[in-house]
Amino acid sequence: MMKNIMIADMHTHSEFSHDSSCPIEEMCLSEIQKGTDIFAVTDHCDVASFRDYDVFTPILDSYRTVQALNEKYAGRCQILSGAEISEGFWFPEQYQKIHDLVPYDVIIGSVHCVKCDNLEIAYSKINFLVLSDKKIYEYLDCYFNDMITMLETEDFDILAHLNCPIRYIRGKYGIDIDLTPFEAQISAVLETIIKRKIALEINTSSFDLLNDFLPDQTIVQRYYDMGGRLITLGSDAHISKNASVHFETALNVLRKTGFDRIFYYKNRNAQSINI
Ligand SMILES: [Zn+2]
Ligand SMILES: [Zn+2]
Repeated sequence: MMKNIMIADMHTHSEFSHDSSCPIEEMCLSEIQKGTDIFAVTDHCDVASFRDYDVFTPILDSYRTVQALNEKYAGRCQILSGAEISEGFWFPEQYQKIHDLVPYDVIIGSVHCVKCDNLEIAYSKINFLVLSDKKIYEYLDCYFNDMITMLETEDFDILAHLNCPIRYIRGKYGIDIDLTPFEAQISAVLETIIKRKIALEINTSSFDLLNDFLPDQTIVQRYYDMGGRLITLGSDAHISKNASVHFETALNVLRKTGFDRIFYYKNRNAQSINI
């Protein structure tokens, strides 16, 4: 059923990310098995981590491995080279270096750490249970402000997992928070990506936990209603079995919302796929 249309998974990780040990070839075989035609290897470059380790060499290694595997798998699967760059605006010089390092097919922009008092570690590592509700709302306020700063100052193609802290706050810790207070900021994010022609990612990694995507369906609907049409699918797979996970469900949601196309990026240009 998926095979009537072309499938592109624009967000995956490999052993060149600090939090994955999956060889790109293993991910490639899994993508092929799922019927995926195109996938992007978007290893992490958490720019702020340059203070602790070399964030550049893994991206270079990832890029070279993609080039080699593309020859090997030509005709079976197209592998795109990319990077998921986060906290770029914290360190503009290092950001520029990673941005210019290789001729990427796609750059994903993410917020993984937030400038909020003493909570600068990645939100995936914050124990939200020890924070008051007030502090969590303050944290999310900083998160969306940082996202707007990133959108205004960095050059990238796809905005990753717009409301990602929810995966941890609600999904992992079961804290019932509500995004209503952030509607103006979320609208500003959507307005800015539409204006700057940055794609909105439907990140499917949260579906088992939240029974929804990142961002959730109400935000996707709002994006559509505001005129946003640039949409990509990303599994954010860190292990091969999660390649293109829940894409059928995501495509059905997108069709119901009104979308008739999704996109992938090659040479940093958006290419459409009819759905
Ligand atoms: Zn991410
Ligand atoms: Zn990712």
